[in-house]
Amino acid sequence: MAVRSQSDVIIVGAGAVGSALCHALALRGLTVAVVDAERGAVEKSGVRTSALTQASCHWLGTQGLWPLGETQTAPLRALQVVNSSGHGRVRFESQDLGLENLGVIVNHGGLETVLRTRARAAPGVTWHDDSAQRVTIREHVAEVALAGGAVLHGSLLIAADGAQSQLREQLGVPVWQHHYGQTAICANIQLGTTHQDVAWQRFLPTGPIALLPLPNPSQSSLIWSTTTSAAEHLRGLSDPQFNAALNTAFGPELGALQSLSARAHFPLIASHAEHYVGSRFVLVGDAAHRVHPLAGQGVNLGFADAQVLTETLLHRDRDSDIGNRRLLRQYERARKAANLSMLLATDALNRLFCNEASWLGQILTVGLNVTDTLGPLKAFFMKQAGAKPPVSLP
Ligand SMILES: Cc1cc2nc3c(=O)[nH]c(=O)nc-3n(C[C@H](O)[C@H](O)[C@H](O)COP(=O)(O)OP(=O)(O)OC[C@H]3O[C@@H](n4cnc5c(N)ncnc54)[C@H](O)[C@@H]3O)c2cc1C
Repeated sequence: MAVRSQSDVIIVGAGAVGSALCHALALRGLTVAVVDAERGAVEKSGVRTSALTQASCHWLGTQGLWPLGETQTAPLRALQVVNSSGHGRVRFESQDLGLENLGVIVNHGGLETVLRTRARAAPGVTWHDDSAQRVTIREHVAEVALAGGAVLHGSLLIAADGAQSQLREQLGVPVWQHHYGQTAICANIQLGTTHQDVAWQRFLPTGPIALLPLPNPSQSSLIWSTTTSAAEHLRGLSDPQFNAALNTAFGPELGALQSLSARAHFPLIASHAEHYVGSRFVLVGDAAHRVHPLAGQGVNLGFADAQVLTETLLHRDRDSDIGNRRLLRQYERARKAANLSMLLATDALNRLFCNEASWLGQILTVGLNVTDTLGPLKAFFMKQAGAKPPVSLP
């Protein structure tokens, strides 16, 4: 007979977002059942990094999730953006915000492991290393049947099951998707010089190529977004051939570059769910929205979702139902505009700066040197990196 269990909240998916949210809710006294299949979405390559903003680090800190203990991070003092010719440049400095750092760079697998371990140990958390197979929303309860045979009951179901969310599909939430026709190649890179805590991003006609500082001062993390056909070609190259292609693409700014690790590939897709909530369910993180990684914002947006959802649930009227759609709409209203504007901004940057053949691309390339031209975009990204937590409830 199927095992049945009841909790306040069921979270399906314990990537960085689901785990952080689980910990935040459990700390406030809610009982949480977590289901995680640890399938492909979880970062296993060991080479992908995430840039975390000061706002994310601050919120994680308030939840007892920051610092990350043994997991090393590298400070991000500045971001240097260059166009393919090298003539157009703009620099984002932490001191412009009155901050020591814009954020930090962390190994994504390391981040997930720490958050998952802490969430698992939090009071009131029941963990299921299993796969959610079928969800049913009833009037008073959300029901999740697991592949292993257990059936979970909760007042609220949270889908944190990533960009390919099966829950989203089962819950009948339409999703808009755009395939960029690009793939990101990630690897650890030895520099010919030191990175000085600066991230570099060069916009090429095929896509942006980024080198983010690692804890070792002469190593950086490569995120090379290029056309899928170019990525396929690069995949077939030997290490010396790949290094030659990388040096040609990035240029001499950081000395001779040499790949230090296996290379991992990630197809790039933007997506956005038509709605984030319904009766007894909520979508968070990549299950709700997925953005181009060029601005390093995906998991930061997910942490902001987790923060606002936690506040929404905690500030409800005493004894009111946490699965109530009207309550959950407060979360949706607070997060949708912020997520959509980041999705549109990253999409615009990718289209415009990577297309120098277009008249607009040429204007923007020239404009890279003119702070006024880039002023609103610069202010937008600086605000995302800022120390303040996200705008929460209206
Ligand atoms: C190349 C690249 C670089 C990036 N760089 C950055 C960056 O610098 N900064 C940044 O903020 N973001 C970055 N991102 C985006 C960021 O990685 C994602 O936004 C983030 O990892 C999403 O986290 P998540 O927890 O929502 O989903 P996921 O990490 O996808 O986690 C989903 C979880 O759900 C589980 N799951 C799925 N289906 C089921 C099921 N049926 N039952 C049980 N469990 C299930 C999976 O096992 C997984 O653990 C980058 C992305 C890419 C591709």
